[in-house]
Amino acid sequence: MNNIETWNIGFGRIGEKRELKFALEKYWRGEIDINELEETSKMLRKRHWQYQLDSGIDAISCNDFSWYDQTLDMIVTLGLEPDRFKSIENKTDRYFAMARGDKDRTAMEMTKWFNTNYHYIVPELKDNMSAKVDISNIKKLYLEAKECGIKSPKVNIIGPLTLLENAKRSDSSMSPITLLSQILPLYEELLKELSSLDDNIILQIDEPIFVTDSVNELTLLIRDTYTTLSSVADNIKIYVVTYFDHATEAAKVLVNTPIEGIGLDFIYDDGKNLEVLDIVAKSGKKLIAGIIDGRNIWKSNFEAKTEFLNTLKEKIDSSNLILSPSCSLLHIPFTLKYEEKLSSEIKSYLSFAVERLDELALLNRVFRGKESTNDKELLAQNREDLAKRATNSDVIDSKVQTRMSSIDSLKQKREVPFAQRIKLQHQKFGYEPLATTTIGSFPQTKELRKVRRDFKNGVINKEEYNNYIKEQIKSCVKFQEDIDIDVLVHGEFERNDMVEYFGEQLNGVAFSQNGWVQSYGSRCVKPPLIYGDVSRPKPMTLEWSQYAQSLTKKPMKGMLTGPVTILNWSFVRDDQPRSTTCYQIALAIRDEVDDLQNGGIGMIQVDEAAFKEGYPLRTSKRADYEKFALESFWIATNVAKPETQIHTHMCYSEFNDIIDTIEAMDADVISIETARSGNVLLRVFKARGYEMEIGPGVYDIHSPRVPSIKEIIKQIEALLEVLPARQLWINPDCGLKTRAWAEVEPSLENMVKAVKEVRKSL
Ligand code: GLN
Ligand code: ZN
Repeated sequence: MNNIETWNIGFGRIGEKRELKFALEKYWRGEIDINELEETSKMLRKRHWQYQLDSGIDAISCNDFSWYDQTLDMIVTLGLEPDRFKSIENKTDRYFAMARGDKDRTAMEMTKWFNTNYHYIVPELKDNMSAKVDISNIKKLYLEAKECGIKSPKVNIIGPLTLLENAKRSDSSMSPITLLSQILPLYEELLKELSSLDDNIILQIDEPIFVTDSVNELTLLIRDTYTTLSSVADNIKIYVVTYFDHATEAAKVLVNTPIEGIGLDFIYDDGKNLEVLDIVAKSGKKLIAGIIDGRNIWKSNFEAKTEFLNTLKEKIDSSNLILSPSCSLLHIPFTLKYEEKLSSEIKSYLSFAVERLDELALLNRVFRGKESTNDKELLAQNREDLAKRATNSDVIDSKVQTRMSSIDSLKQKREVPFAQRIKLQHQKFGYEPLATTTIGSFPQTKELRKVRRDFKNGVINKEEYNNYIKEQIKSCVKFQEDIDIDVLVHGEFERNDMVEYFGEQLNGVAFSQNGWVQSYGSRCVKPPLIYGDVSRPKPMTLEWSQYAQSLTKKPMKGMLTGPVTILNWSFVRDDQPRSTTCYQIALAIRDEVDDLQNGGIGMIQVDEAAFKEGYPLRTSKRADYEKFALESFWIATNVAKPETQIHTHMCYSEFNDIIDTIEAMDADVISIETARSGNVLLRVFKARGYEMEIGPGVYDIHSPRVPSIKEIIKQIEALLEVLPARQLWINPDCGLKTRAWAEVEPSLENMVKAVKEVRKSL
């Protein structure tokens, strides 16, 4: 193949209309057979390759498609299936059983792919696995891609070091990386087999683990691994690709191995990757420069990018420079093509995956002095769009700007310290030790979803919809009173999603119709687009909370989503620091907190479900994140009067290493998950204590199982061993919206009964 100028790291697969999602789900329900699933898959692959061919991208992956996850595909290719799945003869059944479990087997674990919202299947490894490499899937896709007109399809694999670092061991507590000497030969075998696919093979080996601090323990292994892999076959050109942050440590090692090229992210590296340009240049290796944002959706600034490329060119010969997105385009939505409801203004700020391909190709032509007259027009248009975005009144809101000018004075904890506040709160609410509550949502039934759809589609009017929601709230409140829960919630029936509900009511936030991004398997999310200054035109939750409070004498918790969570689950504007956007959201939530407390709601929960998700990959960036995340939470909540009780909720327990930050949030009460994770967190509390009140979930809501009174009592007793009753709240470990009433009713009843039982002996 000719000189490679442009390179696509990877493309999404779920489909611009989520075709793969629907096909998979039909297949799982038995409504279509494997041939139909395969037909849809083939159609999607062809379409996605065609987009890349049409844009004129040089290096296009043949196997970035996957039915579930590319790490799982890698596990299958290397033959590393855990034993419990081996008896499943049929390959497809085995694959989906690993991903989703079946009636006899638990699924493999799934976890976040670095700092994205994509989730991968965690490899389960052990000593001496009887693995057998099988490249049949890659081979099939390779040939298919050639048939579709890609002359030298690129093969993508996940690198051995990333695979191992992302794995867990099922046979010992040793690090999986100690298995490298057993796994590397499998990769060698894999490369050997790939080498026979064609005369020349372009191989992209993804090693995003190199952008994390774990790299420090890997440097020796990097050299050996890539020296070994480079010597397998002469006709394979290996490109080691990194993304999501800088990879300077690894780059310094990789230049001394016989690989062909290195991929570096120049968008999310804070300028650090520039430090290794000299050594990359000296090595004569190709540099795949990730310069089009693969994680966010704002149109590229061609002038700035061309200028940046020219600085790269001063060091790296342009024949060694390959342009690419900063990471796989899997992490952004497919195309703007079907967006009919976004205003033309907002649309002109955006670029999704298909548009990113065109950006990449255009940038390449400009960079190499090959632009056409039409390109010149595109560049002029780009300048105009960007200029408009910078000044548009839907982006810049002078009222928000004025408020923001004094934001620093709000970046502090509440004036009255917790020890005094909590006394006032106990006086005011008079709840007993081991107060019972729930996390907020109650079951979202089929009927409720239908009513919401009907309302959105205009089948029923606002009044009918509101009356329906009120009925739901009423019966939910009645249920909670009947079983005698201490602190009630209204049930969140009016919300489809905890971020969307607020996003839809905030200025500066837009929603696409089709901006889906794969989260895992067939699941997609449609993140809000925060494009402008954020503000709250009017109260967002007040009426519902007041209505709910009017139905009971017990405290009714107001229920809000916190600023950090709204930020972390959105596409965030890139024309100001993320922290600034976060503070703006915090101001909007602050106003809501104030309206709630003035409207008679004395307890207010500000959920920060995604607080931890925003943690950066590099420890060096952690302090900055923690600072603005904490400040944002304070801004949102320090308007609360001392007697107003602020709750927060987080849905995970692994915050041993961030517990100081959690405590610094200064929420009067926090509810968290512990049930599923074997009470790891409790040991932390025992060791270090915890100042505020806390509700470590006493049962796992992710399972349909109804916990018995006895087992909840046991859990409460475990809690009482590490924290005093006065400090403890008793609640499930997350919201109940995915459960059925038939599970929720007995579970909560048992929870309250268990508490009453334990209280007797206090
Ligand atoms: N209050 C929300 C609910 O109960 C919290 C959801 C979450 O933690 N993800 O649904
Ligand atoms: Zn939760």
